[in-house]
Amino acid sequence: MAVMTDELGIRRGHALRAAVDRGLVGEHEPVVGLLDVTGIERSTAELRAAFATPGVAVTHTFAVKAASLVPVLALLGELGLGAEVASPGELALARAAGIPADRIVLDSPAKTAAELREALALGIAVNADNPQELARIDALRAAAPAGSPAAPVGLRVNPQIGAGSIGAMSTATATSKFGVALRDPGALEWVLDAYAERPWMNRLHTHTGSQGVPLELMAAGVREAYELAERINAAAGRQQVEVLDIGGGLPVNFGSDADEPGFAAYADLLRAEVPGLFDGRYGLVTEFGRSLLAKNGTVLARVEYAKSAGGRAIAVTHAGAQVATRTVFVPEAWPIRVLALDPKGREKSGDPVVQDVAGPCCFAGDLVARGRELPRLAAGDHVALLDTGAYYFSTHFAYNSLPRPAVHAFTAHADGAVDFAPVRVAQTEAELVAESGGGLPRLRRGV
Ligand SMILES: *Cc1c(COP(=O)(O)O)cnc(C)c1O
Repeated sequence: MAVMTDELGIRRGHALRAAVDRGLVGEHEPVVGLLDVTGIERSTAELRAAFATPGVAVTHTFAVKAASLVPVLALLGELGLGAEVASPGELALARAAGIPADRIVLDSPAKTAAELREALALGIAVNADNPQELARIDALRAAAPAGSPAAPVGLRVNPQIGAGSIGAMSTATATSKFGVALRDPGALEWVLDAYAERPWMNRLHTHTGSQGVPLELMAAGVREAYELAERINAAAGRQQVEVLDIGGGLPVNFGSDADEPGFAAYADLLRAEVPGLFDGRYGLVTEFGRSLLAKNGTVLARVEYAKSAGGRAIAVTHAGAQVATRTVFVPEAWPIRVLALDPKGREKSGDPVVQDVAGPCCFAGDLVARGRELPRLAAGDHVALLDTGAYYFSTHFAYNSLPRPAVHAFTAHADGAVDFAPVRVAQTEAELVAESGGGLPRLRRGV
């Protein structure tokens, strides 16, 4: 067997050159996504090792929204992970990837009765978001045919411990839309009663936030959930809450190739702050997304033109808001690194020049980097947007009817050889026309 290279950056460099060399990116498909299979395996192994504890059953689910790609979910499934899904579409993807029902968790603040019915019938764990949803679950359980599988049911709570640095990613603020707000008047009593009245409710869920939430705040949120589970169990006089679902949200370092803070640091902090989590009385569920995939993916795009305006050098590329939506619209919160590559996909050298790296969309703000110092980009060069393996491939923005780009998985070998495998084919023009109503009858004029 060929030897894998060790370092993320070296593997990525091999893959970028090979992708250009083999024409995966070119005139016809000027932007593609690349995913590092070795990196995904390593990240998964790090996650598993970080939480592994004798006597504690840990189910790591992957938050499907971070990479809603069936071959990726199937790979993660083979590596032992499950799936956290938040819509019927995400559930369908997890099932298509062969993820077993007992490794799927359904979260979402707006589950319909039909979704709940399907999940309960399949035996998928459901985390109820609010009292109305729990009442629906009561009714569905009462109406279920005898002998139906008993799906695990939990309640999502919001410990209201505050925000991280990105408001839109902070789910534990006083007024977050998610879960039962524990510090609101009467809420804690309601939760305790809800469990007392439902001896079958056996899980408790919290997810304190995503990018921008510091580890200490995440651990504080988990501690609140743990302490609540202890109260519920004390009141029940037994281990009613058997599984604590501690959510995801480990932040990712977008500033360098260093994988910080990393799963081990978070798990160690939890061991210190909430030791009871790991003493064997509770099973654990995690729901990491970004931290598993971000550093293992790269967007590769052609530079179509290089121009200047008002003294500013501007590289017009094919990667903009359609793939890097958050980076373009909220650049302060979602900065990404950009590599300047030559026509063969090799990293460019040369004196840094202050440049804007623009995308193809027809609005002025479509820039993935502003005033960035990079070797001067020219027409026919390429750019690589780094750390884009999570969310960037799954959160396409259909502006200007730009197609969803292809995504290729790669395995890079030490000698520079690279194997590619398709993960998603690029959306075709015919598909774009069809999804834009192309096959529908002409509208009748009103006159
Ligand atoms: C988005 C989300 C996650 C994953 O968050 P990451 O920041 O990608 O790790 C986990 N759980 C829930 C409930 C979520 O909404």
